[in-house]
Amino acid sequence: MKIHNEFIGGNIKVVKREGNDVYLENELRDTEWDWFYWAFCVEGAKGQTLTFHFQPIRLGYWGPAISHDLKSWRWLGGRDGDSFTYTFGEDEDKVYFAHDMLYHPDRFFAFAKEKGLTTEKFCISRKGRSLPCVKLGQGARSVIVAARHHACEATGNYVLEGFLDEYLKAPLADTKILCVPFVDYDGVIEGDQGKARTPHDHNRDYDVNIPSIYPSCAAIRKYADENGCNYAFDFHSPGHFGAVNDNESIVRNSFEKEKRFDAIGKLFEAEMTERSFKYYRKNDFPFMFDWNIPSANFGAYMAKRSENEIAFSLETPYFGSEDNKVSQENIVEVGRCFCRAFKRYVSEYEGKLPI
Ligand SMILES: [Zn+2]
Repeated sequence: MKIHNEFIGGNIKVVKREGNDVYLENELRDTEWDWFYWAFCVEGAKGQTLTFHFQPIRLGYWGPAISHDLKSWRWLGGRDGDSFTYTFGEDEDKVYFAHDMLYHPDRFFAFAKEKGLTTEKFCISRKGRSLPCVKLGQGARSVIVAARHHACEATGNYVLEGFLDEYLKAPLADTKILCVPFVDYDGVIEGDQGKARTPHDHNRDYDVNIPSIYPSCAAIRKYADENGCNYAFDFHSPGHFGAVNDNESIVRNSFEKEKRFDAIGKLFEAEMTERSFKYYRKNDFPFMFDWNIPSANFGAYMAKRSENEIAFSLETPYFGSEDNKVSQENIVEVGRCFCRAFKRYVSEYEGKLPI
């Protein structure tokens, strides 16, 4: 039997095995805080029943996400404190377990291809990878959408996919979109936490007075300088779980644009569908509350540009709550609902809500 992290997004350390009990830890790598992301593969355990033990705060409400192909994920259930037990079937050669429902870059590439979008090289990452982007449309209105400023935050990619899927049904006139789906591409591939990297993470690489240290952030800033940025949406996942981390929320990054946050929040609520993970405007993350204080983040950086109408992070939980439980499908649908809200904002409010 082999327990390993040798796949895209893999992250695990096997501490010890005692009989059918396996003790695991996640790999923090260069993250300076305690964080919770992990993903591992078990091969060659046919017919065995194993119990996997973690440190505290590593398992979600419904145990691990489980997959046999890194594409389709479901909640296993059966969490017992900080451990879970799994009986491998006689035909189960390879099983993946993860903190949450991973989003493999190949899913994005397949989606783009299916929609007739060209995936281009945006820049070369620090570790030499060709970091992808997609560009849509032409025109004066410039929109930037992004995900994975924090490498482990897969839910943002599902939302981004839904956003593009909806947008393509009826693109806005006179509008161009830059989409950077994996801002911390090295971290996504290698299974890093990405959050709170040393010396700072990708979403803290937007200090107007200091050049970016990550090529993708530098390239996003250069793009905004050359093309402007009227709207920017950055799709994130929040903390592990509990309280605000269970809610879909817009991170309001200033008081001066409160009317605009209210407007897009109301439209987002109005565009919710039955099959969407639910968003409620009352759950928006207020400015100057808890961790939401001014910082050199992407949303705030773009929001401060003189031409910018509105820019923010949208947080999509890893798990949700019993009556609003995350699935791959319902968080893609969140992106569709959000896109309709954005398009309505453009037609109903753009330039009409003074700060
Ligand atoms: Zn984040």
